[in-house]
Amino acid sequence: MNQSNMMSVVVPVFNEEANLEELIRRCLDACRQARRPFEIILVDDGSSDRSADMLDEAAAAHPEAIVAVFLNRNYGQHAAIMAGFEQVRGEIVITLDADLQNPPEEIPRLAEAMDRGFDVVGTVRANRQDTVFRRTASALINRAVQKATGVMMHDYGCMLRAYRGHIVRAMLMCQERSTFIPVLGNSFARKTTEIEVGHDARQKGDSKYSFSRLISLMFDLVTSMTTFPLRLLSIAGAIVSALGIGFGVFLLLMRLLFGAQWAAQGVFTLFAILFIFVGAQFVGMGLLGEYLGRVYNDVRARPRYFVQRVVCKNQCEEKTR
Ligand code: UDP
Ligand code: MG
Repeated sequence: MNQSNMMSVVVPVFNEEANLEELIRRCLDACRQARRPFEIILVDDGSSDRSADMLDEAAAAHPEAIVAVFLNRNYGQHAAIMAGFEQVRGEIVITLDADLQNPPEEIPRLAEAMDRGFDVVGTVRANRQDTVFRRTASALINRAVQKATGVMMHDYGCMLRAYRGHIVRAMLMCQERSTFIPVLGNSFARKTTEIEVGHDARQKGDSKYSFSRLISLMFDLVTSMTTFPLRLLSIAGAIVSALGIGFGVFLLLMRLLFGAQWAAQGVFTLFAILFIFVGAQFVGMGLLGEYLGRVYNDVRARPRYFVQRVVCKNQCEEKTR
């Protein structure tokens, strides 16, 4: 059974040797400020620099507070966080990045917000220090996620967040390989809120996300939450077909009114027929997509539901998962 007021901070680390010392010092200070039992779980995601050694040393220096987890190679930020989740003992779980873009000083505020009984506390980066390209991409994706999950949050990209233990356990039971943790977490949450946090530019080391990794992350995010893009095929196809039919009718009318000269001796009629068939093909693909979406959902094999609590009056006993 996890400790109910304990706080676990999970940090993925990939080639962050330049930031680790400051990160650990600031995290320890911040966690002590939160005045509750805590642990800091640092997950080394197959770093090739000194990060792993530094984590070893940190865990030896602060055995009461720091847990180090080492993955055998690089699996990516979200996989690393999941590996950290497997080790948590606290009922309040906070994630943040190792590059100090998320100020660890916000940890006590997140914990306080969780004390008010929320399942997930999200964050909004007050003055975000990233490139314009990334900010626009984020804004678009946030909109889409809000639509698809129905959970109003403004900033899914910020990893500085807090989750309650049962949300983390639900996430661990999801077997799919590509996950985007803030979205996955929210899909299991009942009560959520957001607080505003600071955001700093990366001082040391480089961003671990190249353009192509960002694209693949974006697809992870979209596919993890909805199969709607597949349905778009059918919708687009139906529209094209309908336009083709409309065009055909229009041509027929014009032919009857103005005679055979009209519409370049039937060339345009061919276009109308072509549109109808192209549209029909899209509808067919969309239909395949509908099956694919259902197969995908079944292959993911997420549990059908998660029981949070059972109150059994007979035995006057409350079982908590
Ligand atoms: N990270 C990781 N594995 C990876 C890539 C990144 O554990 O394959 C960690 C990285 O060490 C950092 C966090 O994920 O703690 C966010 O990475 P980064 O700051 O490079 O991303 P950005 O801020 O550019 O989105
Ligand atoms: Mg960063």
